[in-house]
Amino acid sequence: MTQLGVLEGDGIGPEIVPAAVRVLDAALAVAGAEPVEWVPLPVGAAAIETHGSALPDVTVETLAKLDGWLLGPHDSAAYPAEHRARLNPSGFLRKHFDLFANIRPARAFEGAPALVPGLDLVVVRENTEGFYADRSTYRGTGEFMPTADVAIAMGIFTRTAIERIALHALELARRRRRHLTIVHKANVLRTSTGFFLEICRQLAAGFPDVEVDDFHIDAMTVHLVRHGADFDVLVTENMFGDILSDLAGELAGSLGIAPSINASNDRAMAQAAHGSAPDIAGRGLANPTAMIASGAMLLDWLGVTDAADVIDRALRATVAQGIRTPDLGGCAGTTEFTSAVVDSIRQHA
Ligand code: ATP
Repeated sequence: MTQLGVLEGDGIGPEIVPAAVRVLDAALAVAGAEPVEWVPLPVGAAAIETHGSALPDVTVETLAKLDGWLLGPHDSAAYPAEHRARLNPSGFLRKHFDLFANIRPARAFEGAPALVPGLDLVVVRENTEGFYADRSTYRGTGEFMPTADVAIAMGIFTRTAIERIALHALELARRRRRHLTIVHKANVLRTSTGFFLEICRQLAAGFPDVEVDDFHIDAMTVHLVRHGADFDVLVTENMFGDILSDLAGELAGSLGIAPSINASNDRAMAQAAHGSAPDIAGRGLANPTAMIASGAMLLDWLGVTDAADVIDRALRATVAQGIRTPDLGGCAGTTEFTSAVVDSIRQHA
């Protein structure tokens, strides 16, 4: 039986992660797939209380034996100072397990308001280096203060990391609408993001069936707002991808519907693109869609495609019926929305 880890996390995590488990169980049953054995593991503020660490060794050691897991959001900015000094749990897991591809779809839902109706794109974000200096080094960090008045952050761009993310994006584009957009800032950061652009273009030459264009990151934000529905797959470095995918999620309707997985060649971590939403935590108002859809992406990555499709259809049918959480202009709570998705899965069995 496939074992998958469950790490609830902070803020709205304990509300949306169990919702995802409920929906995945229902979809696996309806699709006739083998059930999953869920392995709960400590993480975040609760783990600081029980294990003295936001990411205890037992969690990392157990994850090493699993093919995948659901990670809830964490609110590391709220941890006590000594815990804030460490790499945050998701940054650590991405780096430790070399989860190099952060795949973040943004797709508008029929029946829900969207700033860009018809938006249906995927941000493929390089997840291990780039301008996120805190995770680019083997030991220590690429962000430091040589004096009290000077702060320095290094960005890293390597051929190996660029090649593998570019190939991932090109292969994804080939399975979708065959359009890849490379996002960079090669007019200013010529050597680093210029290198990113050059390698992506070189590899794209081997995919003549995929139309390739490229934009500077600043222009890209404008294009997304004005005509985001024209884009298919975007590939970019770590920090640009983080920012662009939040923008794309919100343009599709809400950060609450923006899923993601972080994948290596042999394991994957499902993680909503949004944060722990402390402003609405504990009130039963969170939209569980992003976490549920991230779980569906994990099932798809594991090859349980039927169950993933069942979830996608149920999420869309539920929203189209007018059952929506407040972030999408509705009044359903997390539990009510989740129950409606489970009902939809069972009705369409
Ligand atoms: P991080 O730095 O971890 O990304 P953040 O505080 O910058 O976190 P979020 O926690 O993602 O950002 O919250 C941004 C806004 O989006 C908040 O107003 C939050 O309530 C809202 N939001 C995020 N996720 C959801 C969700 N699942 N359902 C409803 N609203 C959400």
